[in-house]
Amino acid sequence: EAAHASAVVTEAQETLRRVFGYDAFRAGQQEIIEHVVSGGDALVLMPTGGGKSLCYQIPSLVRKGTGIVISPLIALMQDQVDALRALGVRAGFLNSTQDLDERRVTEAQFVAGEFDLLYLAPERLRVPATIELLDRGTISLFAIDEAHCVSQWGHDFRPDYLMLSGLHERWPDVPRIALTATATEATRTEIATRLNLDRARHFVASFDRPNIQYRIEPKTDAKRQLLHLLQNEHKGDAGIVYCLSRNSVEKNAEFLCQNGIEAIPYHAGLDARTRAVNQSRFLREDGLVVVATIAFGMGIDKPDVRFVAHLDLPKSVEGYYQETGRAGRDGLPSTAWLAYGLQDVVNLRKMIEAGEGDAAHRRRQSLHLDSMLALCETVECRRVQLLNYFGQSGAPCGNCDTCLSPPETWDATVPAQKVLSTVVRLDRERRQKFGAGHIVDILLGKKNAKVIQFDHDSLKVFGIGTDLRDVEWRGVVRQLLAQGLLAVESNYGALVLTDASADVLRGRHKVMMRREPERATAKAAKAAK
Ligand code: ADP
Ligand code: ZN
Repeated sequence: EAAHASAVVTEAQETLRRVFGYDAFRAGQQEIIEHVVSGGDALVLMPTGGGKSLCYQIPSLVRKGTGIVISPLIALMQDQVDALRALGVRAGFLNSTQDLDERRVTEAQFVAGEFDLLYLAPERLRVPATIELLDRGTISLFAIDEAHCVSQWGHDFRPDYLMLSGLHERWPDVPRIALTATATEATRTEIATRLNLDRARHFVASFDRPNIQYRIEPKTDAKRQLLHLLQNEHKGDAGIVYCLSRNSVEKNAEFLCQNGIEAIPYHAGLDARTRAVNQSRFLREDGLVVVATIAFGMGIDKPDVRFVAHLDLPKSVEGYYQETGRAGRDGLPSTAWLAYGLQDVVNLRKMIEAGEGDAAHRRRQSLHLDSMLALCETVECRRVQLLNYFGQSGAPCGNCDTCLSPPETWDATVPAQKVLSTVVRLDRERRQKFGAGHIVDILLGKKNAKVIQFDHDSLKVFGIGTDLRDVEWRGVVRQLLAQGLLAVESNYGALVLTDASADVLRGRHKVMMRREPERATAKAAKAAK
């Protein structure tokens, strides 16, 4: 037994050196590889860039037969296979981008035992012919990449993944290794259940990325805030800027270019060729900034991404973690920066309410958003909060915005009551869309056209909020939304009370809020003097 184990280790290490040219395993890799080579099932949680691929590639090389890799990242298969072939690994793939001839050739090679690794798109398994094909070859293992796609609770569910539960019944002796970079405790349990991995050993690497500095600030003028960050801290650095819409991708890329920063756009609306060119430029050239929707980045392995900036609020902590995780894979200091504002919260809440899917689906999405908002509004260490979300613990890191300049909190009960009282009064006219801007105008006593049209200057609350400025009121509304003390109504996007609001209005619930830091732009102006 011991002799066998040490022979496995030696062979794995030898493969690491000879094929991949690396001297040593990274944290976790050796244990996982040993376990899978010996025929055990594994569920691997490792952050992006941690080195998951070797965990199935080496066992595929060491074990007899072909390792079947199920991956949803069809666009990357060709590159992955090319990279492996360059190392002398016999690899192939089967997906919908191939024509019949290419597929036939690959299939014949598989049956003849000419592959160490075969990449397979999950939808291939829908075709009975694929199952028959797999039966004709020798399989060394199944690797299920991006395993969180099987979870309906997670943020990236793919129905085709549900078919993977059948692998075990069909090939009971073939070890399976499921891998993901994002999974909470709940998602992990779901993955294990749905993939029939009840006897799998779980390998959970630390999710901490100590070289990434997490920063989240209120959005005032997102473009300018971003420009300030790039000019002052990331001149000439490669980085990714995420936006929610294609339109804002285009606009922001243009804005950066006009301001002397070399930026290229990436989103699903661009033709395939432009996308491919922009992606490969980003990978190959130094110091390029890509402005993208979240369509960009899955499987992108560029070590020196120095910053990831979000101009819009991600929909979940999982998404945020995965996207920011593309920064600093080389271990050098990097920045994860996010600007978010009231409108983000309103938009996402509206999208969820108006979106497809059943009530349970909306409820899940809403909980995802709540966790993201809690991360934004926390006065504790961001890293600790992130790690806790993934079921891990840590101490205050000293390398996030809340550690570096701890935010103050203030008792916002009275301002909260003013906002909620205004909402109560507008509630009677719910058919109209009265958003946050209108509520703030009423509080500030602004006699603009809309206020006059609806006679809102005669409301008792008109002008009772001159003690705070416009941006401060918007901050109060945003934090009320984040704390669940206000909600967004689905039909017109109006602000409405929640069950919890009543206690605030009656003075039974104290509302504490994070004091907004001075605007980044204001700070910059001061520094320039
Ligand atoms: P993941 O799939 O977890 O995001 P990858 O498997 O793509 O990460 O690995 C990230 C990078 O780290 C790759 O460039 C890979 O070659 C490199 N890498 C992985 N394991 C090692 C190792 N033991 N030594 C050195 N580099 C490694
Ligand atoms: Zn911290």
